[in-house]
Amino acid sequence: MEHACHPVSGCEPPCREPLGRPCARPHRQAWLRAPWAGPTAQCQAKGVATGFLCWGCGWWLLGVQVLEVGPVRKLLIVVVALFAALFAASVWLLRRDSSPSPKLIILGIDGLDSRMVSRLMAQGEIPALRELYGRAAVGTIRNSDLGLPPVSPAIWTTFATGALPNTHGIHGFVFKADRGWELFRSTNRKVPAFWEIVSQAGKSVGVVNWWFSYPPEEIRGFLVTDRYFEAEVAGLSAITYGRATGNEAPPTYPLELVGQVRISRRQALPKVLSAADAAQLDGTMLMLAYQAHQVVPVETLLIYLNGLDRVSHMAWDAQDQEGLGGNEVRQHIRNVDGFIADVLRRAHVKSHLVILSDHGFEANQKNEGPRGIHESKEAADSALILLAGPAIKAGVDLGAVSPLDVLPTLLALADVPLPEGIPGSILRQAFLPGARNFEALEKRRRYARLPAVEGEIRAKGSATDAVDQATKERLRALGYIE
Ligand SMILES: [Zn+2]
Repeated sequence: MEHACHPVSGCEPPCREPLGRPCARPHRQAWLRAPWAGPTAQCQAKGVATGFLCWGCGWWLLGVQVLEVGPVRKLLIVVVALFAALFAASVWLLRRDSSPSPKLIILGIDGLDSRMVSRLMAQGEIPALRELYGRAAVGTIRNSDLGLPPVSPAIWTTFATGALPNTHGIHGFVFKADRGWELFRSTNRKVPAFWEIVSQAGKSVGVVNWWFSYPPEEIRGFLVTDRYFEAEVAGLSAITYGRATGNEAPPTYPLELVGQVRISRRQALPKVLSAADAAQLDGTMLMLAYQAHQVVPVETLLIYLNGLDRVSHMAWDAQDQEGLGGNEVRQHIRNVDGFIADVLRRAHVKSHLVILSDHGFEANQKNEGPRGIHESKEAADSALILLAGPAIKAGVDLGAVSPLDVLPTLLALADVPLPEGIPGSILRQAFLPGARNFEALEKRRRYARLPAVEGEIRAKGSATDAVDQATKERLRALGYIE
């Protein structure tokens, strides 16, 4: 394996496993399967040259050595061999470039505890993260200083908007409405999110499974909302949304994604009780992201994974002497490491990778509720931020980072000017000198909330109600809502 030519993924080729599944070991053949992914031009050139040589040698052996032919035919065979090799190489290159890799990939991993990551790295259990740390700027996100509650949707919305809950409006999971407790929706968010800002700056962005991204806004790119999975599991998306009834907002934008980004029954999983369940869930989300990107290629891709959060709540083992949550949790952090390796192998030479988490985890000492929780100050302040890629200075310790600085830093990576009125600032110390024009990025602009896709008038007993019900049941099982 060679790392000289790629600041993030090295020369290691992508894996042959189905998209979204961790790779056991790298396979070169996979280059053909993920046309937008790939190593550097240098690696690529090496691959083409080797293929060229092998192809040419084969023909030469067959034509010149095995068959006994005259000198004119020999020459003809060599010329044909050269043209054939050239043709094969250009077809291969065209295929690869047909759908380019995202320039910025943001992986949100709910509940990834920076303390546990450090311990598991020291034990050599998570090689991809360990290697990435050496090439990245890494910090711990401190939520408690700002009184940000350790409630996932509030924190993920703060990451996406650069604002605190009192400003962005997403305080938790549910709010009291006229007809009872209702799940928050994107329409409850009062300020523009990352994907709206990036779209208005003229760049494309894709979002998968981010908290309360339903109903989707009409962005430049795609949105596979947090309700899509539930809708698919309930078998509702194809029936209702697929035929755009006019009174239901679709769970994806554009609507056409519903037909093209599909999960199988096998991937539909209501409960996460083990590392295997969590891997299936996260693998499905990654697969949805890759599928959507194939249909609507984007420059920036945000993927939110909640398998670790769910398995940590359900299967935390308080007896684990090292405070690593026991076998299931530990195994799923290893799985997540495999997914990160997978994403890296598919990343392009100029891609940046960001890994974010919202809080850590700890054992629940009470006799009721979920087995793992994140209520203490320590858990709230053990969230992780990791930045890697060509603009990032390797080995920078960012220390304690404010959650309000996440959005400005993500926008700087995407090369998008910051919005007016947000208190945070770019983590400039993470960037290489001259990698970004901070003065230009700091010339703040006004960005609007984009309209959500229409059709949000809901009738009782509608498909949306059934999906909301399924989501509420899941949250109840985790002890999030009553
Ligand atoms: Zn969380």
